[in-house]
Amino acid sequence: MLIVQKFGGSSVADAEKVRRVAGIIAESYDAGHDMVVVLSAQGDTTDDLLDKAAEINPRPSKRELDMLLSTGEQISIALMAMCLEKMHYPVVSLTGWQIGMRTNSQYGNARIYSISTERIRAELDKRRIVIIAGFQGVNKMEDVTTLGRGGSDTTAVAIAAALHADRCQIFTDVEGVYTADPRKVPGARKLDEITYDEMLELASMGAQVLHNRSVEMAKRYGVNLEVLSSYVRKPGTKVKEVVKQMEEMKISGIAKDHNVARLAVVGVPDEPGRAFRIFRALANKKINVDIILQSYGKNNTNDVSFTVAEDDMEEAKETLLEAQEAIGFDHIDVTTDVCKVSIVGAGMVRSSGIAATMFEALSDAKINIQMISTSEIKVSVLIKDVYADLAVKAIHQKFFGA
Ligand code: ASP
Ligand code: MG
Repeated sequence: MLIVQKFGGSSVADAEKVRRVAGIIAESYDAGHDMVVVLSAQGDTTDDLLDKAAEINPRPSKRELDMLLSTGEQISIALMAMCLEKMHYPVVSLTGWQIGMRTNSQYGNARIYSISTERIRAELDKRRIVIIAGFQGVNKMEDVTTLGRGGSDTTAVAIAAALHADRCQIFTDVEGVYTADPRKVPGARKLDEITYDEMLELASMGAQVLHNRSVEMAKRYGVNLEVLSSYVRKPGTKVKEVVKQMEEMKISGIAKDHNVARLAVVGVPDEPGRAFRIFRALANKKINVDIILQSYGKNNTNDVSFTVAEDDMEEAKETLLEAQEAIGFDHIDVTTDVCKVSIVGAGMVRSSGIAATMFEALSDAKINIQMISTSEIKVSVLIKDVYADLAVKAIHQKFFGA
């Protein structure tokens, strides 16, 4: 088998951890597999590099920032290769440039165009373990780019896709994907399997296990992903297209997102074209809108409320105020005192009463729901920020009994 293994920064934070991870790699190699390994920068290295940059120049160019940040991963791969050398394994470390990881020129958040697999294949043919720097690539000018924070997951999945690897294992400091954050909900259960779509919903809502783009890419190329612990040697969570227990489990997980602000446009005339004007103005500024609610107001007017990411709130408000005459509203109310709690499950479409169960849990906990939105695999509610953890616990208890 050809296996791609990725280890995050905390898994390779110091010499002892590097040795432990080398042991995991060696074990798979000894089992006869072709091994490609992707590493992140050790521990907090990337943050430390950002601090170093800020000491010198608080506004460095993105090109130079990428030149700096990409060094963290290079340290990890060299050290890991040295560790495996010492254990008498044939090994080679390679940078993004050396594997032909081509990206666009968006420094700091580059998108992958292609990977030339020749060098990796040649090394594997020599039975070498190939250790690759995550998070980095090169653009058409041969300048170093980085893929955005947490981007090593995406490197690993892209390589697995390019090589048609049999497996892509993402090793991290948790044992897999849980029904809720296990640090907050003691009864949270580890999932054996989850679908790509469910994982995308959970990741984008702050479950923070995998880089979102890595899951999108895994779905597009059908990469067999597994999230597992580098400390506890047992099966983790498999991320794939269809999942066995999909029909038994009503929901797969609960997530919360604090990065939410709500805007209410009050007193919008009840006539065609008003909603269009509101959301076109926001779209023109590339502001992403999430939950939308139009409520029936008085005197032939409506109130249109919607949510955006907190960082977009000010701009959204200004944009609408600039268009106040065209939209014709009375005033705008804003609040950041809200959060979004969501349940996710691919089995939802085939079961009834899922939303009712969620609302019952919130009702029992005396938590007021401000907005609701649903999709085929998700139900989200907007509630007061301070009740987030309480809500997740109450909903988890209702669905999973713990
Ligand atoms: N080292 C980079 C970061 O801290 C990439 C990664 O860890 O995936 O964001
Ligand atoms: Mg990560």
